[in-house]
Amino acid sequence: MSMRSDDFGPVFPGRFSDGRSAATVTAEVRLTERGVEIRRTGTTDVLLWPYGALTSATPLGRHSIDALLGYKFASDTTLFVGDGTFARQLQTHAPHLSVRATRLRHATPWLWAAAAIASLVGVIWLMELSPARAIAQMLPDSTRAALGARVIGSMTSGRKVCDAAPGRRALDQLAGRLSKAAGGNTPFKIVVVDWGLVNAFAAPGEQIVLTRGLLEKSESPDEVAGVLSHEMGHGLEMHPESGIVRALGLSAAMDLMLGGSGGTLANIGLVLAQLSYTRGAEREADAHAIRILREAAISPKGLADFFTRIDKLDGGGKAPKDKAPKEKSTSAFDVLRTHPQSAERAAIVANQPPYKSTPALAAADWADLRAICLSEGKI
Ligand SMILES: [Zn+2]
Repeated sequence: MSMRSDDFGPVFPGRFSDGRSAATVTAEVRLTERGVEIRRTGTTDVLLWPYGALTSATPLGRHSIDALLGYKFASDTTLFVGDGTFARQLQTHAPHLSVRATRLRHATPWLWAAAAIASLVGVIWLMELSPARAIAQMLPDSTRAALGARVIGSMTSGRKVCDAAPGRRALDQLAGRLSKAAGGNTPFKIVVVDWGLVNAFAAPGEQIVLTRGLLEKSESPDEVAGVLSHEMGHGLEMHPESGIVRALGLSAAMDLMLGGSGGTLANIGLVLAQLSYTRGAEREADAHAIRILREAAISPKGLADFFTRIDKLDGGGKAPKDKAPKEKSTSAFDVLRTHPQSAERAAIVANQPPYKSTPALAAADWADLRAICLSEGKI
């Protein structure tokens, strides 16, 4: 090897490959101002690879013992220099080949990967507690709204949606007052179904279904406000979404997250109607109900009264007279099946410290709401 020294520093021995033949040729390599100068044995041609066009098989650093270089404009060619000094000096001319630069260059995709892993860990951590809830919380609002519309469509199919204008106005007034107190991002949408069953369901996407039976069995607008605020609590906690995810299973849930498909969702309304929430979920919904009613300055007594009375009626096993003959239910008061432990919960509600309240609706509006299922001509 020759160690000629001149203006451009030492000459390093290297091996050059043109990538076309298996053989490599020896070469004298120098670092010049303009680039890496390569003088191959057996030819007088001098190659000059500008620093900016160099690539390196491995990033160059203080501990490099050699350099295997490529050239962007002749992608098959390689130059190997088995000398750590060369590698270190090259780094100062071509900083983009350094370990540090390589780290930075890969930082963005790496950060994304790190974020993805972190969120996955977060998801798994959440899943330890409740996989269904974790998935439900990942559903975009548009998916939840579509899911809710589907649930309500399925529940109300073959039944009339009650929308007599005066009743609708009264309901909108009450829903607005409670939604504002609930403090969520989206006001709740409430649909009344012409159904004798006494029940109320929270559906995905801040939607609630109320039955005619429930309106008829309620003795005051405060009772309806209490039931609605409890359902809003379920909605705020995404209990319907979680319940559906749990009922459908993981793969269908993933399908939902990716935009949904028809097959699995055909009977989604039925799925939701059959759901019963855990004690913990009921407590969460009650806590919201108590908070919402207080914020809205509506007495919580209505909620307690409703559950106490329904509980007693159900205990007597009496079916309401207006119950449609072929309606499929084990109890006329399904509100108890889907919202169990009502007596205990009624007591908690009743024990709230008193505050100043006004009726949930004025007497005339309450009369309109109760008549919402009568067609306008009959009023
Ligand atoms: Zn409930």
